Amino acid sequence: MYDAVALGEYLIDFVPDGVSASGEPLLERNPGGAPVNVLAALAKLGNKTAFIGKVGQDPFGEYLRDVLIRQGIADKGLVLSRDAHTTMAFVHLDELGERSFHFARQPGADALLTEAEVRLDLTSGTRLFHFGSISLTSEPSRQATLHAVEAARQAGAIISYDPNWRPSLWDTEELGLVWMKSGLEQAHIVKVSEEELALLTGQSDVGMPDLVAGAEELVLSYGLDVLLVTRGAAGTYYRTARYAGEVAASRVVPVDTTGAGDAFMGAFLHRVLGSQTKPADWSEEELHRTVAFANAGGALATTRKGAIHSLGTLEEIQELLRG
Ligand code: ADP
Repeated sequence: MYDAVALGEYLIDFVPDGVSASGEPLLERNPGGAPVNVLAALAKLGNKTAFIGKVGQDPFGEYLRDVLIRQGIADKGLVLSRDAHTTMAFVHLDELGERSFHFARQPGADALLTEAEVRLDLTSGTRLFHFGSISLTSEPSRQATLHAVEAARQAGAIISYDPNWRPSLWDTEELGLVWMKSGLEQAHIVKVSEEELALLTGQSDVGMPDLVAGAEELVLSYGLDVLLVTRGAAGTYYRTARYAGEVAASRVVPVDTTGAGDAFMGAFLHRVLGSQTKPADWSEEELHRTVAFANAGGALATTRKGAIHSLGTLEEIQELLRG
């Protein structure tokens, strides 16, 4: 039995890294994919995890499999395909450090995961199942994702979902919304950014009054157990059917915010797995403590470069919480 299984995109990100002495642009190669980042955070905190996804049987795919193994994430749900190439994205950083992605030769292997390739021993053998919306944006991975979530739900797993808004992957915004909402319908625990919340609830503003109203709307219309709205250095707003509140961010000096949301989610889910009761039955105090722990996990990830390599240990999170 696994504590957590996640399914979704898994790719190579090429990030600009200066210029060589002879004037060639340099690229840093990093493993990319939010579901794996979340599992890496859980594995670092001591949870037993496994990943479901697809890469090419090529040097990049082999590298990505090695990354899983090195992070202590079981790789038996990872398909290495002869017929597809590992997905590769080129990351563009704007002046504010915001990232946009350009994909090479679509579709890559991760979008080609089929229902038949999803191992049911993993989807039915986990206490928690996590997914995002990128694998929902094209076929056949959309069908594979919905099938896996359904199997995990049927087996009694807690379902967690991070919509991970990526309009560049959608044919139209309308279709993107339909895809994202099909994820929300399956989930117990959902994490969104303020922008995602505004888009999902059709609001044009991301200010606090709209955030409060939007969070209530999302929780009630999708029957969510917990909605977490992460707000960077402003901390996290939470909403359940019974209560709502905020937890301030931990105070750190950020260096690189890549993967902070995934580190936050991993830390939150670690506490969910450690609890005797389901989040739907938690007192507000328990949720508050859990969000504070997750905020510390997210904050720590901003103090070092990268996503997987910036994750904090349990001791570091506890130390940051002690202040
Ligand atoms: P995402 O990476 O999904 O955009 P956020 O940037 O909101 O998510 O970060 C997730 C969580 O990480 C936040 O809710 C917060 O607790 C923590 N965090 C992010 N940036 C900072 C920061 N600059 N200082 C302290 N905590 C931060």
